[in-house]
Amino acid sequence: MQHTVTFPSGTVNYAFQCSAEELAQHANNRPIVVVTDEHIAGLYPQLRSRFKTLTVPASENSKDIRTVEKLAGDLLQMEAGRNTLLVGIGGGVVTDITGFLASVYMRGVSFGFIPTTLLAMVDAAIGGKNGVNTGLHKNILGTISQPEFILYDTNFLKTLPGEEWSNGFAEIIKYACIFDAAMFEELTKHNIGYYQGNYASLSDLVEKCVHLKNKVVLADEREKHQRKLLNFGHTLAHAVEKLYGLTHGKAVAIGMVAACIISQNRTSLDEAVTLKLKSLLQQYGLPVRLDLNVENVMSILKMDKKRTNDNIDYILLEAVGKAAICPLPLAEIEHALISYERNH
Ligand code: ADP
Ligand code: ZN
Repeated sequence: MQHTVTFPSGTVNYAFQCSAEELAQHANNRPIVVVTDEHIAGLYPQLRSRFKTLTVPASENSKDIRTVEKLAGDLLQMEAGRNTLLVGIGGGVVTDITGFLASVYMRGVSFGFIPTTLLAMVDAAIGGKNGVNTGLHKNILGTISQPEFILYDTNFLKTLPGEEWSNGFAEIIKYACIFDAAMFEELTKHNIGYYQGNYASLSDLVEKCVHLKNKVVLADEREKHQRKLLNFGHTLAHAVEKLYGLTHGKAVAIGMVAACIISQNRTSLDEAVTLKLKSLLQQYGLPVRLDLNVENVMSILKMDKKRTNDNIDYILLEAVGKAAICPLPLAEIEHALISYERNH
């Protein structure tokens, strides 16, 4: 099943329920270079045997400008010209590196993605943001450019470790919270085991998330306004991810709970929603509490690139399926974190 979406920065062909075997059809005889990580290359040796393949170590540390420089050197060595099609096959690390590399190599070559993690399928591969880190500074170098295609082959998920399933569900639960009360209800009825045994329902869920994200990106590709809603749970998540070495999904889970607690004061969100969200997160193997050092967290939030003066645009919930952008003073966030720390 295919459909195309035209964003300001390019048109993307989404191929759902597809097989990675169909990649050659999308290449139209252009030379393909696959970019993947070493772990995936080991699990799927057919990639290396079928395509020219470049690998990076399977680690967030690979998402760095130095990797891009090295890969550009490798491309030059294999005489990859401007008609090369770069295809990122992997999780968010691989799709970010590939999108960035393709956007700058020879001033830009075509690229496509085959996301292999649930998180990349519902989030990282979509939306055209391709960022890499410089040392400790996350996503500081980046481009907004859309892949030519994104192929969805859920068979890759058969080898995905349980923790990575939870990470993906953190983002799926995020979409439900901010946009889709019916999806929230559906999620409460199931768990990871259900979706692992029912790929048809899983594909439906993935497609719904893709549509929800595309709708916001279409309206606001450069994150001037609505796209900010996708940062629900993410302001605190980025801080605790770095401070406590949590996976992205776990950090987002904690960030969403904290955002609900702030919402209870700010938007009069019913406390029952916070409790429902907590139990849903736990149902999908995600944490809901963390002993955090408020002072350390605040020192990171103060450096947040989305800060304006002493306010941070925080995404709050008004109800399940309804979110709002709310500029919050740092002092109020600090106060909320202290009460989160005491009461949860
Ligand atoms: P994301 O940012 O999408 O969570 P990453 O790129 O950080 O994902 O990948 C997380 C880990 O999952 C990496 O070790 C990667 O090699 C591994 N991985 C990715 N896809 C698969 C898969 N289909 N099966 C097994 N492991 C995978
Ligand atoms: Zn995220």
